[in-house]
Amino acid sequence: MRSLAMFSQKCPLCGCEEIRRSHRRNAWETLLLWMGIKPMRCRECYNRFYMF
Ligand SMILES: [Zn+2]
Repeated sequence: MRSLAMFSQKCPLCGCEEIRRSHRRNAWETLLLWMGIKPMRCRECYNRFYMF
């Protein structure tokens, strides 16, 4: 499990600002989107995390 919650627009692992929206994969992530929580992915280390 490498996902981390965060509040700023940076990767929580490497601090890189090159992040993109990740595709939602399942019903859980669709539900998160409805709540305004977006799955993101870092372009540097490929960490997945959620942004509020
Ligand atoms: Zn990163």
